[in-house]
Amino acid sequence: MNTQVLQQVQNKTMKQYRKNPVELLKWLKNNLPTEKIVMGTGFGPPGIVLLDMLFKVTRDISVFYIDTGFLFDQTYELRDKLQDRYGFKFLQFSTDITPEMQADQYGEKLWEKDPDICCNVRKVIPLKDALKDYDVWITGIRKKQTQVRKEADLIEFESRFEVIKINPLIEWTHDEVWSYIKANNLPYNTLHDRNYPSIGCKQCTSPVCAGADDRSGRWKGTNKIECGLHKSTTISSNETKTKAN
Ligand code: SF4
Repeated sequence: MNTQVLQQVQNKTMKQYRKNPVELLKWLKNNLPTEKIVMGTGFGPPGIVLLDMLFKVTRDISVFYIDTGFLFDQTYELRDKLQDRYGFKFLQFSTDITPEMQADQYGEKLWEKDPDICCNVRKVIPLKDALKDYDVWITGIRKKQTQVRKEADLIEFESRFEVIKINPLIEWTHDEVWSYIKANNLPYNTLHDRNYPSIGCKQCTSPVCAGADDRSGRWKGTNKIECGLHKSTTISSNETKTKAN
């Protein structure tokens, strides 16, 4: 990646975009090569908002999702609705390990025995593949989602995947996200209307009671709260120098 561009991304003036995701996306489009930028989504509400904003700014940036093979039918329906609405195709990344192969290799119901390994096989390794040709990864994570995400920043360097990670909605609240969805009449996962505020794989997602934490239905009964796609990272000049070289 061009070192000058990286220095621009690190520039303190980027902070002006902390509450202005559309302007940040415009800046990215106007200042970086769009073929080196990619957005990823798990089809959660912030991802839907970000996708709409991105396509209002540019159609030159690709968008991918990770298909674990265990997604809900409603998630695929949402994917198809979005593809129809915007007239595009998501890039799809998956492990080559089928559920049957996984059962042979690791035993039945790996998600119960060791969900970290399961997420690593079905999500994190495919994510590495998804990002390998890009310098910038745009995500829809928000600080208020989990403790790990609370530590996340608008712009980070993700050393595991050697990419600059941009989180345009990092400061957005749950209500801001849903107001945007309603105001723009965007499609969303119909499971959200059935007490599933946060949705991942079928095996690891449960409905929650009214008033419970939005993420409490994920990996219910375990201490796990993140799939491993997002970790707390900070950007540093040494790391960007390594990347630039
Ligand atoms: S969310 Fe559950 S089923 Fe999906 S990859 Fe992670 S552990 Fe496996």
